[in-house]
Amino acid sequence: MKLSFHGADRSVTGSCHLVECAGKRILIDCGLHQGSRELDEENAGPFGFDAAGINYVLLTHAHLDHCGRLPLLAKRGFRGEIITTSASRELARLIMLDSAHQQEEDMRYRARRGGYDGARHDKNEPLYSTLDALNCLDYFGRTATYAQVIEVAAGVPATFIDAGHILGSASIFLELEEQSHRTSVLFSGDLGSAGRILLRSPAKPPHAENVVMETTYGDRLHKQLGPSIDEFYEAITETFKRGGNVIIPTFALERAQELLYYLSEGVTQGRLTKSTQVYLDSPMAISATEIFRRHPECFEPATAKLLQEGHDPFSRLRHVHRRPRAPPPPAQSRSRGFEHCVRRLRSHRDSCAPNYRRRQAGEHLRRGYSG
Ligand SMILES: [Zn+2]
Repeated sequence: MKLSFHGADRSVTGSCHLVECAGKRILIDCGLHQGSRELDEENAGPFGFDAAGINYVLLTHAHLDHCGRLPLLAKRGFRGEIITTSASRELARLIMLDSAHQQEEDMRYRARRGGYDGARHDKNEPLYSTLDALNCLDYFGRTATYAQVIEVAAGVPATFIDAGHILGSASIFLELEEQSHRTSVLFSGDLGSAGRILLRSPAKPPHAENVVMETTYGDRLHKQLGPSIDEFYEAITETFKRGGNVIIPTFALERAQELLYYLSEGVTQGRLTKSTQVYLDSPMAISATEIFRRHPECFEPATAKLLQEGHDPFSRLRHVHRRPRAPPPPAQSRSRGFEHCVRRLRSHRDSCAPNYRRRQAGEHLRRGYSG
């Protein structure tokens, strides 16, 4: 068995690990490098292996830094099978199509400027297009179910274990046999914390001889959730009392749905006023919320029961379908998401609080729930 790393080594994005065993070449994740112009170049560079020679991809979860180079893999010749959970499959579709759109926007921006920023090998071509992302969907094959062994190939059983990180996320346990030598490897993927409200806590994995573990936040202690929620409700209530509105920047996937849940619970429990109106201004977050509704099997049992009884934690939601006023941002991925977020925040601030400049911070809570 041979194991090599083609991303998320010496960095925390671009997860891509190659297992070679029993004549098969199996990738664990194929994520996008994110964070700087240099990493853009790394995305456009060679994988370090032949895409056409990969037989299987096992996808731990649908965050961009774990699935974002799958369309590129297919574009460069991959014709094997991608295996993941049902929820990850739906979310990966959303994330990859959005990423392709961003790549195309970047290309158009560079074309408008008439320059070449050196971040692509071919200035007339995005890293991958919407068509490439759609083509990639054809390679999603069997669906993995938590805790059930799936025979990836002869002699390569895999088990997807609930990682409690985002909807559908999994650690992957591989049992490998080659020339009568047996071993096992556990790929942790990203792990969630225990005691979350929507998703189940990470399940305990089986004993493994080798563990490949991600440790992005491994050196931090998480704050206790209860006091944070109290603070959240207090901040909203105080702001409403002063006649203000609350604008919350957040990740579109998972964190947005958790916030929606807590807002709904706050009203149900009388900790927020009944007249609270919740608007969600993100096409991706809106789509992700719909996918959440379709996958109660991933939910923490008490939440799943509430859903079964007809209590919809997302029911207070009103969607905002509109285009941002400003043109697309510059093509630097370092600030793309952030700039986009800031522009939306300013747009909301101007429409919700025309006197903001005079009143400054007194009337509005601008609070980042993105960490
Ligand atoms: Zn993740």
